[in-house]
Amino acid sequence: MADADFADLALQPELLHTLSGLGYEEPTPVQREAIPPLLCGRDLLGQAATGTGKTAAFALPVLQRMSGTERDVGPVALVLVPTRELAVQVSEAFHRYGRELGVRVLPIYGGQPIGRQLAALARGVDVVVATPGRALDHIGRRTLGVHGVRTVVLDEADEMLDMGFFEDIEAILDSTPEDRQTVLFSATMPPRITEIARRYQRDPVRIELGREAVARDEAPLVRQSAYVVARAHKPAALGRVLDVEAPSAAIVFCRTRDEVDQLTETLNGRGYRAEALHGGMSQEQRDRVMGRLRSGTADLLIATDVAARGLDIEQLTHVVNYDVPSAPDAYVHRIGRVGRAGREGVAITLAEPREGRMLKVIERATKRRITMEKLPTVADLRARRLELTRAALQESLLTDELERFRVVVETLADEFDVMDVALAAVKLAHDSSEAPGGEEEIPAIVPRADRQRGAERERPGRERRRGPAAEGKVVRLFLGVGRSAGIRPQDLVGAIAGESRLTGRDIGAIEIADRFSLVEVPDSMADEVITALRRSTIKGNKATVRRERDTPRHRGV
Ligand code: AMP
Repeated sequence: MADADFADLALQPELLHTLSGLGYEEPTPVQREAIPPLLCGRDLLGQAATGTGKTAAFALPVLQRMSGTERDVGPVALVLVPTRELAVQVSEAFHRYGRELGVRVLPIYGGQPIGRQLAALARGVDVVVATPGRALDHIGRRTLGVHGVRTVVLDEADEMLDMGFFEDIEAILDSTPEDRQTVLFSATMPPRITEIARRYQRDPVRIELGREAVARDEAPLVRQSAYVVARAHKPAALGRVLDVEAPSAAIVFCRTRDEVDQLTETLNGRGYRAEALHGGMSQEQRDRVMGRLRSGTADLLIATDVAARGLDIEQLTHVVNYDVPSAPDAYVHRIGRVGRAGREGVAITLAEPREGRMLKVIERATKRRITMEKLPTVADLRARRLELTRAALQESLLTDELERFRVVVETLADEFDVMDVALAAVKLAHDSSEAPGGEEEIPAIVPRADRQRGAERERPGRERRRGPAAEGKVVRLFLGVGRSAGIRPQDLVGAIAGESRLTGRDIGAIEIADRFSLVEVPDSMADEVITALRRSTIKGNKATVRRERDTPRHRGV
């Protein structure tokens, strides 16, 4: 595979400049395949999970095709996404990439005060990133004009399907100009998605990432594991993993130059000896870094894929993917740095909750199992540190000359119990051995791809919807709106997923009666959902929201 540069993809100078400013060193495989046909206006049907760089793959062509054209009040591009979280993320991506082009982007999602959306829409927007329900609302009220839309993107189409948004999507597509460009990205391709593609796309370019198995015997035999952590907890998680693994030398891969610099700084601040290596450095700087690693003055190398290409470092024991690589191939290249010539190697991947699926894609393509591990908890760390302190004291009792401290113990013994004196001494010894990783609590997360999906393939519109397979306590929430207010299951899923951090998958059985509805949600998230729903409306209705009495109970799936 040729390692095309962004410049080879016929992107305009402003975009190239922005990308290099963001520290992107080369396009990901999805970008390499998608950008040229999208720039030509072709439709595209892409099977790609989060982590592949698909957002930039559709955003950059939209931005380039829009620049230099007359700006109207209404948008030229409409991006539909399943959740509010993603609407915000994708909008931010458009902002980031379109900075130099002065693009006007607006996220629109259920629950957000409509007034603010109306004002922004009236001022004029170029790109709208919306959840389908709210987009359709605005189209119906004629507050969102779609006659000028030249590109519609369906992002994470399978998630939108799971959440019961498909009728809305069809209605939206039907209301946009027929000669529009239609781009569809989905991690999986169930029949209903290919059906949408067949009906609404014209001769789409197809991209399937990770289809052709890497299947190489040269894939080294290393121990492979992964941890799922939220972005905000990644530095702490990395610290903890490094403390547990205690590598003699490790390379940590990041996606961008900026991330390499930031992480290097963070790690050095936490007491590790880390060196940055990226494409923005001169040969001389790189040589110096390598020298420090070889001589043992540094034990962590933080690098981008591009910068690490061709490196052969004898003493490496661990490869850490601080970000999931953008394709299985890149994963194989990265972990190929260790486990050479019969030496033992370890590959560790930190994945964000949304990237669980990408791990599965990599597993399938490499035909190697990646074990999902739980991060050591604060309690584990504490227990381990106490054990270290105990061992250190034991060692001291057996070998050290302690006589000169006797006077301290004896004077204190006049006033205190000797046991208490010993306890205070242990505390002091223990406190002075503070681990560099700190004791931040890192929440455990169930990776998305590990949650059972079968149950969610329900067709939308049914009154009962089976919920998440995730075990654990669930509670039923009572919502004071029901069928008489026109409430459908997808309205409730949309409202909850739009207003809280829950996704459609976290929501369990839904029952809709005439005057009220009952919705199952994880106990741990119930209060957040209640607060969020109380602040907003459900299909325009202000509703009573509370825990149903007689709960909680355990779900028996
Ligand atoms: P996505 O799969 O679109 O969610 O993107 C995953 C992450 O990769 C995002 O944080 C992007 O900022 C980042 N990213 C996208 N394209 C590139 C690239 N060519 N080089 C480095 N990072 C990238």
